[in-house]
Amino acid sequence: MDADELRGRVREFLAGHDPAALDRSTFLRARFDAGLAWISFPVGLGGLGAPRALQPVVDAEFAAAGAPDNQPLRIGIGLGMAAPTILRHGTDEQRQRFLRPLWTGEEVWCQLFSEPGAGSDLAALGTRAVRDGDDWIVTGQKVWTSMAHEARWAILIARTDPDVPKHQGLTYFVCDMTAPGVEVRPLRQITGEAEFNEVFLTDVRLPDALRLGAVGDGWQVARTTLMNERVAIGGGAAPREAGMIGVVAGEWRSRPELRTPGQHDALLRLWVAAEAARLAGQRLREQLAAGQPGAEGSAAKYAYAKLNAEISGFELELLGEEGLRYDDYTMRRPSIVDWQHRSPGYRYLRAKGNSIEGGTSEILANIIAERVLGLPAEPRTDTTVAWKDLPR
Ligand SMILES: Cc1cc2nc3c(=O)[nH]c(=O)nc-3n(C[C@H](O)[C@H](O)[C@H](O)COP(=O)(O)OP(=O)(O)OC[C@H]3O[C@@H](n4cnc5c(N)ncnc54)[C@H](O)[C@@H]3O)c2cc1C
Repeated sequence: MDADELRGRVREFLAGHDPAALDRSTFLRARFDAGLAWISFPVGLGGLGAPRALQPVVDAEFAAAGAPDNQPLRIGIGLGMAAPTILRHGTDEQRQRFLRPLWTGEEVWCQLFSEPGAGSDLAALGTRAVRDGDDWIVTGQKVWTSMAHEARWAILIARTDPDVPKHQGLTYFVCDMTAPGVEVRPLRQITGEAEFNEVFLTDVRLPDALRLGAVGDGWQVARTTLMNERVAIGGGAAPREAGMIGVVAGEWRSRPELRTPGQHDALLRLWVAAEAARLAGQRLREQLAAGQPGAEGSAAKYAYAKLNAEISGFELELLGEEGLRYDDYTMRRPSIVDWQHRSPGYRYLRAKGNSIEGGTSEILANIIAERVLGLPAEPRTDTTVAWKDLPR
């Protein structure tokens, strides 16, 4: 299937589904059913089995027709992490149940992985799931759970066997965020808002039908999620000058009074680095079209975090005193992380999280050194770092 054929399919679909006449959910559900949602997914699950690299062609056609999108910034965890995991490890029934409302944005997902004592060393997690007939009873505490306050479902890893080595005793579940015993409390962060939460799970009863993958295979399933997470955070398709560099380049062009020769040099270096990262991301997505993401996804996420920190810092310097003004420090629980339409101060502070979320930059540097560059491995200790255990 090529770009022209896809364009033809979108036009045919639009001829029968006027975006101006249909409500958002009806339109998006029909788009999913026509296989024009995530085109690389199988037929019947929102896709056409088409090359992933052609997704921007389809999205651009819909955007040009003024069609509503599925608010990808709001449902990033579902799209980028839960969906590829369900597709790969879920049963047919689970795929049919979860993927459509996930893609349309009718059901928001969050990720219950990190715990107070298990972040980089994720496999050390202590949340327990104990079998009780056809159910599992889950008890534990998760932390830094983005969008848990909006979520209908969560991807969850829990320990089902404490007597085997830590990676082998884990099982992966879909957690019903409306189940009795799930308590979500906001965690206010440096930006002022609480985009993430702590989640307390007290005797939460989950039917075995919500288990994803075999009992004890949770780590294998989680690896799919973690590798896709890197790509979702750092490897998204973007036109030239999208993202943080576009904001700063715009300010540079429109505010000549701010410029100094030294800053010109610094901005050009950042611009070139951002463009190189964008092109490397494009190459990564082409590799992805041929299979699952590998360790290279870590490099994309590493570069994204580093650049965002540097560019947002440059923006503050460029704007001087004006950059120190903060737009809004109200404690809120946002539905979308939208740094583009916030102040430079917000961008600077939010970029700090980029080097932590989805695996810290230190851990990613280790992965790149060992798995991509083939440098000698760091000596292992008994607190072997889980994020490093991703396949080549
Ligand atoms: C904005 C944001 C959103 C998040 N959203 C979610 C979410 O939705 N769901 C979820 O489950 N989690 C989420 N997280 C949590 C995130 O995945 C963890 O914070 C991250 O994995 C690091 O774990 P930790 O905080 O426990 O730090 P630790 O693992 O305790 O690390 C502390 C420091 O030690 C360094 N370090 C640790 N081990 C090594 C090593 N072997 N070599 C070198 N340095 C090392 C780390 O790089 C870091 O600087 C989010 C975090 C942020 C910032």
